[in-house]
Amino acid sequence: MKNIAVIGAGTMGNGIAHTFAQFNYNVQLIDISQNSLDKAIAAINKNLTRMVVKEKITNADKERTLANITTYTSIKEGTQYASLVIEAATENLDLKLKIFKELDEVCPEDTILATNTSSISITQIASKTNRPDQVIGMHFMNPVPIMNLVEIIRGYNTSNEVMKFTVDLSKKIQKTPVEVNDYPGFVANRILMPMINESIETLYNGVAGVLEIDTVMKLGMAHPMGPLQLADFIGLDVCLSILEVMYDGFKNPKYAPCPLLVNMVRAGKLGVKSGEGFYDYSKNRKAEILAKQFE
Ligand code: NAD
Repeated sequence: MKNIAVIGAGTMGNGIAHTFAQFNYNVQLIDISQNSLDKAIAAINKNLTRMVVKEKITNADKERTLANITTYTSIKEGTQYASLVIEAATENLDLKLKIFKELDEVCPEDTILATNTSSISITQIASKTNRPDQVIGMHFMNPVPIMNLVEIIRGYNTSNEVMKFTVDLSKKIQKTPVEVNDYPGFVANRILMPMINESIETLYNGVAGVLEIDTVMKLGMAHPMGPLQLADFIGLDVCLSILEVMYDGFKNPKYAPCPLLVNMVRAGKLGVKSGEGFYDYSKNRKAEILAKQFE
């Protein structure tokens, strides 16, 4: 296995490409947008430079890693020699179904097809292909080069061989794979999103303010970041869409998104990426963030 194609060169795609390239795989990074590809290579370059400065890798490692990545705007061209494709395109059901249908048509028949989706059913994605036993979830965490976990999601038809192959591959890039089954939210988001939603509900009910809620969870539960700040970093639109998938999938009111979250997304307050969520990032995205007042 030398060729790994990564579809989508956004936040996750560039991190996945970076990581495999650093471990000497040839990476074909594919995006419909040339601008996204250019930005991805610039981000990988910057992140590698930071690792050189911290003396985690040498300058030669950096150059070798960059040389291992080739960019493409065509799925057909970029995947023709791939042993594994990891799809990390925008979280949208119709888009993913379309991409997997195309992958099934253009990839060699033994190519394994993985998706980095946060919430969409692996079984549903696999149903668009003629190789559902070779479709699997590889849910990396952001930022990929730093976070050690990969949730490996077994779709209804995923074969044992493909599970084992994916687990072994994750270890080769020094990640810790955890095997889970394909139900809404998998494990990470099934547990994380209700906590985030409940913290928004606590704010919405006026029990406490943003800083108070985050301080309780940071100091009381030893979380590195409070749940509201974490929601801002993940993106409130992303949180809402994952909760909707869980609410829809389980038909259980406990996953119903808090009306305040729905309103904030409608108002374009998406967290760090829009400059405002539960905190104000208009002046500074990292330090000195200001908690917004909610009445
Ligand atoms: P993003 O918006 O940063 O990047 C998505 C990229 O996909 C864009 O560059 C876009 O141009 C590209 N794209 C869209 N349609 C395409 C197509 N047809 N072919 C090729 N490229 C296409 O998104 P992201 O945050 O990197 O998320 C990607 C996936 O990873 C999603 O499924 C998301 O749920 C999942 N995920 C995200 C996070 C996170 O923290 N951001 C964490 C885990 C998993």
